[in-house]
Amino acid sequence: QVKHSGKNHYMYFQQEMIEVLKEKVETERRLTEALAEDGFRLVYQPQVEPITGSIVGFEALLRLKGIAILPDRFIPVAEETGQIIPIGRWVVGEAIRQMASWRDQGLPLKPVAINLSSKQLSDEGLHGYLQQKLLEKNIPAEYLEVEITESVLLEESTDTTTFLNRLREIGIRIALDDFGTGYSSLIYLTYLPIQKIKLDKTLSDRFLKDESVEVMNSIITLGHSLNMEITAEGVEEPEQYRKLKKSGCDFMQGYLFSRPLPAEEVTPIYNSQLISDNASPAGASQ
Ligand code: C2E
Ligand code: MG
Ligand code: MG
Ligand code: MG
Repeated sequence: QVKHSGKNHYMYFQQEMIEVLKEKVETERRLTEALAEDGFRLVYQPQVEPITGSIVGFEALLRLKGIAILPDRFIPVAEETGQIIPIGRWVVGEAIRQMASWRDQGLPLKPVAINLSSKQLSDEGLHGYLQQKLLEKNIPAEYLEVEITESVLLEESTDTTTFLNRLREIGIRIALDDFGTGYSSLIYLTYLPIQKIKLDKTLSDRFLKDESVEVMNSIITLGHSLNMEITAEGVEEPEQYRKLKKSGCDFMQGYLFSRPLPAEEVTPIYNSQLISDNASPAGASQ
């Protein structure tokens, strides 16, 4: 009996592994195709300044054209296969091209953030590539922000520090993404060149629980005392907006204001106000 069920379990496990592998191979194939055939696109999620409710910048997020697989599924595969290197460079080029395009349409430059995952920090030529693309399109480096997750920083290699310092030397800004999902050791905040902390959605959600507000306030105060700006991610509720604003959170991002949008849908709302003081979303959120 025991032996039998053990064998079934083993077969089930094997079947599962085959499925996972198949999916990986399929995703890898789609990524190869997308790289060869212009199959990626970026969507842009507005970031708002809570006092005026106006858009102060955007986060660029990667999508596959015509396929509903989200980055949480394909980025790990791209990391594993090394495809993240050419994909990451495409993201850099495309985000900077879009910033220049908005500027050339007469819109004021606003900061755009791109995400970098772990393996991209060992892309030796990336900082040179970034610098070249910025120069080509005449975009001041301060308008480009790079988001790096806490887990990447926790690997704590000297390479990471060198990489980030190089970006800083060019003038690119660095944001710590998904803050609060890992160990959140505040120590590394003091020795890494970070200008902004992005509170993960799980932390933003804590603003809905009264007992956590004090703790959250002290995280914001601490960030400020280290001269960092604070952005709250995943803000969906008017109540969160109100509490975060009261706590002195500098910027917010979330479905309450807007979902990530294709560039052509950003253009008409580029200078608009996405929320008003009575905390009712105005317009662009869907
Ligand atoms: P992230 O950088 O933390 O991005 C925030 C994610 O939260 C995005 O998911 C965004 O669409 C989603 N989001 C925004 N507002 C809300 C909200 O109010 N509620 C909820 N539930 N979700 C919200 P997305 O676009 O699926 O990206 C997932 C992750 O994939 C990103 O997390 C980032 O780590 C990674 N990623 C995305 N684009 C790129 C890229 O170009 N390169 C790399 N290396 N990673 C990327
Ligand atoms: Mg991010
Ligand atoms: Mg995040
Ligand atoms: Mg994330």
